[in-house]
Parts: sequence; structure tokens; C-alpha cells
Amino acid sequence: MALDVGKALKNPGQVYPFQSSVELEEMEVLSDPVHFTNVNLEGEFFCTGDHRVSLRADARAVAETRCSRCLEPVQVPVEAQIDALYARESDPDDPDLYTFEGNAIELTDAARDALLLELPLQIFCKPDCKGLCPVCGTNLNHSTCSCQEGNVATGPFSALKDYVLNNEEV
Ligand SMILES: [Zn+2]
Ligand SMILES: [Zn+2]
Repeated sequence: MALDVGKALKNPGQVYPFQSSVELEEMEVLSDPVHFTNVNLEGEFFCTGDHRVSLRADARAVAETRCSRCLEPVQVPVEAQIDALYARESDPDDPDLYTFEGNAIELTDAARDALLLELPLQIFCKPDCKGLCPVCGTNLNHSTCSCQEGNVATGPFSALKDYVLNNEEV
């Protein structure tokens, strides 16, 4: 939903609180599909003069994506701070400037940019997700396979541990 900033443009310096929600389209982040849903914004805006609007808001959303280990669908809450400056014309010297037309500010771009910054690089369905078998692709959270039988420890130091244990047995 576009934000009507007509009042603010007429009263530079006057601060206006607002609440809004936006719809964001699904996008790809590092080849993973990401969909922010239930994006709610709460904050304030004011005209800084010269038909520019400064806007600050807390953005809260739910990111629907897939587990970095097992690729199952996963949802994580994401919170971000929006601190955006809007102008009627773009400024080549200020690539962070957002533009708007008339009295209506579209909040989708700033919300998406802020939320993407806060999205964790790796998202797991649970902290101890076992992931997929690298050999046969079985989801090891749901079932087991025989590819790595006898090799229970799969942590980064399991090889080292095997080495130490073997030497102790000698
Ligand atoms: Zn997982
Ligand atoms: Zn396997």
C-alpha cells in the first residue's frame, strides 16, 4: 500500500507516525527462493524540505525459504530498520535515494532492501539439522541410508577424532 505523504510535504519538519504493510514478490537470493510475507512497517516520516521525505521504520516479516542443509521449506522471522530518503527525482550522486511520484511513497523497495540485509546467509530448519546425504541425497532427518554406515560422527573434526581414537587403541 502506498503511503500518502501529502500532509508532510505541506508541513516540512512536522513528524507523522504511520503503520503499513506491504506485499513483496518472491525473489532469489544466492539461488535460493526467498519470499517475505506478513511484512509490517511501523515508523514515522517527515518532509526535510525541497520535496524530500525522510522515513524511518521498523520492518517485521516472515521469510519463507529453504533450509541451507536439507532444502526443506523453512520460515524465519526477520526484523530490519528502514532509514530511507525519498525524492521526486533521482540523484546520480546519491544511489541510495528512493524516488516517488505525486504524494504517494511506495514502501516495497525500501522494505525489501532492509529485510534482505538482515536475512541470515544460512538458515536451518532446526539447529541440529542433519542435512542430505552427499552421496544419495536422502534427507537424514527423516531416514537413514547405508552410504556412510559405521561413520556416525560427521562433524568437521570427526576425521581428527577417528585418528586420535585409532592411535589410542594401538
Ligand atoms: Zn534442514
Ligand atoms: Zn546416502
